Amino acid sequence: MARPISQTRSYQTFTALRDRALERLHAQAQADISQTLSVFLQAVLGEVALAVSKHIQGELLPVYAQRQLDEGIFKASLRAVPALLSTYTHFLRQSWILAAASEAAAISRAIGENVGEGIGALAPKILTQTFTGESIQGRIQIALDRVRRDVIDAVQLGVLMDEGQQAILFRVRRALPRVRQFASAPRVLQKRRAIRESSAGLLGGGFRLSNRLGIPEREWDAIVSNALAANPTQPFRGPGTVFDPLKDEQGRILVKDLDEEGEPITEWYGWEIEQLLTQDFVHQVRQGQLEAAKKAGVRDMIWIAVIDDRTDDCCSKRDGLTTREIEGRLKTNWKNDDCRAIVPPAHFNCRCRLAPDAETEQPDDLDIGISAEEFTRWALSDAPAVRSRD
Ligand SMILES: [Zn+2]
Repeated sequence: MARPISQTRSYQTFTALRDRALERLHAQAQADISQTLSVFLQAVLGEVALAVSKHIQGELLPVYAQRQLDEGIFKASLRAVPALLSTYTHFLRQSWILAAASEAAAISRAIGENVGEGIGALAPKILTQTFTGESIQGRIQIALDRVRRDVIDAVQLGVLMDEGQQAILFRVRRALPRVRQFASAPRVLQKRRAIRESSAGLLGGGFRLSNRLGIPEREWDAIVSNALAANPTQPFRGPGTVFDPLKDEQGRILVKDLDEEGEPITEWYGWEIEQLLTQDFVHQVRQGQLEAAKKAGVRDMIWIAVIDDRTDDCCSKRDGLTTREIEGRLKTNWKNDDCRAIVPPAHFNCRCRLAPDAETEQPDDLDIGISAEEFTRWALSDAPAVRSRD
């Protein structure tokens, strides 16, 4: 009996593993970005300390000290940009490749045919624009510039209020993006509980993805070892990663908001750059899925929204529609809609997914319950190919 590919156990299990490997890459990229930003912020604080040391209470900050501060922070930001940009863009390409390769493999599993060949040729070059079409480098520069302005604002205000050096430094730190601690990195592709844990047997025959998909061997190995190396179950951004949490005089950690139980709200994104990276990541994953499915001969992908009281209009009206249907409506009925998304994310923090709009006659007994480590090892295995098309 024919059933939608997206509802087969093999597809669901496989894509859940794919998401897990991708989340690991994501966590690794976030950690790398944190690292670079941490160095930047240390430099910023150094500049602030220098400027404030020139401050005599009861007087304004000397003009030369203000200039030095401004220039010092600006130079520190120039040093940070190349590393941030490189982490950002390489990660996006890796995400696309892993998403596309795994989608092809998941579809192959579901239909019992190998459909992934030649996908590597479709991989995007290093991207220079965000999914909304803005320059990535420009975005990073703006984010760092914003920190510079906030810091200078804080210093000027502290001087104006005739505060002492320590008070000004404290004011500056409060103006910086706040870091929160997490037991583990939050998932962005799929909610934790939605992932069905499955046990039992290994893959019934894999194929070496990189060869068959046309992705350079070295690049693929790097992606896989990255995914294996990242360990988001460790405390992800501990206090040492960027800053110690800011405390008041009684040693209580200062947090902006508490939830109903009085716990600090675990809001992940203190950083504009990380937020942006996450949105681009989700977009690259969905885009990679779509391209792989098209290449595999799947006629279309279906938009799947998580429907609850947080779902907005843009996502709920796309729920259950195919990519082609959405494209069609955007040209007609939805011509004047602000939301133009064809693949998720439709907006920041969009939780929508894509699944192939295709059916399979294959019995749903391909048990592929494997761990994330086994998944990535499988990707590197030289096991014989799934029954090929020809
Ligand atoms: Zn959505």
